[in-house]
Amino acid sequence: MPYKVLVIPGDGIGPEVVDAALEVVYAAARRFGVDLEIKTAEAGDVALRKYGAAMPPETLKLADAADVIFKGPIGESAYDVTSLIRMRYTLYANIRPVKNLPGVPAIREIDCVFVRENVEDVYVGAEYKVGDVAIALKVITGQGTRRVARVARRYAEMRRRKVTVVHKANVLRVVDGFFRDVALEELRGLEVDQMYVDAAAMELVRNPARFDVVLTTNQYGDILTDLAAQVAGGIGLAPSGNIGDSKAMFEPVHGAAFDIAGKGIANPIATILSAAMMFEWIGRTDAAMAIRRAVEKGIENNVKTPDIGGKSTTSEVGRYIATIIEKL
Ligand code: ATP
Repeated sequence: MPYKVLVIPGDGIGPEVVDAALEVVYAAARRFGVDLEIKTAEAGDVALRKYGAAMPPETLKLADAADVIFKGPIGESAYDVTSLIRMRYTLYANIRPVKNLPGVPAIREIDCVFVRENVEDVYVGAEYKVGDVAIALKVITGQGTRRVARVARRYAEMRRRKVTVVHKANVLRVVDGFFRDVALEELRGLEVDQMYVDAAAMELVRNPARFDVVLTTNQYGDILTDLAAQVAGGIGLAPSGNIGDSKAMFEPVHGAAFDIAGKGIANPIATILSAAMMFEWIGRTDAAMAIRRAVEKGIENNVKTPDIGGKSTTSEVGRYIATIIEKL
């Protein structure tokens, strides 16, 4: 039975980086005999302009039928596509590994995995405006915290067995206090510490080597992972996986970057490494490891985009990495 993959190219630099990554996906699938059934559908600003819906019913039907979604960044309609997919399929854990790549200039040495709660917090969409007052609800549940903490535990057990729980319970005593208490309870037996989100931002720049697994809420994770990606060498390198109990979505951490769209200079590595995470999720560590090795080889051989000091185009990087995999 093939794995059903739905590809959503997205907006801005999305189609460019997804095209480059798909070359790599096809090469890895061929080389390692992974049976994928790949379909493509539109969603995002492009779809909104064309069909009047950011997530057209046809795309939603394909997403429902898929085992896994491989997605580029979405522009202004991100909430209607990315958040919708996360909520609809309860992709409750957002996994964002942050690690230096050899040959990429970085601010500091860093090797950690963010486990960001992905379907709760202020992103539940409960916002109201009443006269001169605007209100957003921050929702944290025990069940939601326990299941994402269990994911953090699994990652910690595969790594250095250390988890840092990041919150702001000194101010948000009830909601963040609840998240902290439930998370700490669920993580018993591991080396666990806790940190306020502002201190965590500072530490990620000052001494990021202290982090192994970072468990945090949706909004703090959103912000901290952009920061951490920059510490490691740039947002163009940061992959992510949105994981649920039976479905997953893989996408780069970065956004649609309209400022560089259509120029062929977007770095596809974040999307290519997201593809590696996808192979890992379907149990094909061999293909995932080959992709990661090929990415490193490409950088070593100076086939890289301008954001990390190279002169290659988006598609040249994708093709080069695909060729390395074919030759492995
Ligand atoms: P969003 O609000 O959805 O996060 P954004 O366009 O404001 O999107 P990003 O796209 O995440 O923000 O990134 C900010 C900047 O980083 C971009 O404007 C672009 O210059 C640069 N950037 C982002 N992704 C890449 C990439 N893959 N390759 C090279 N540069 C990138």
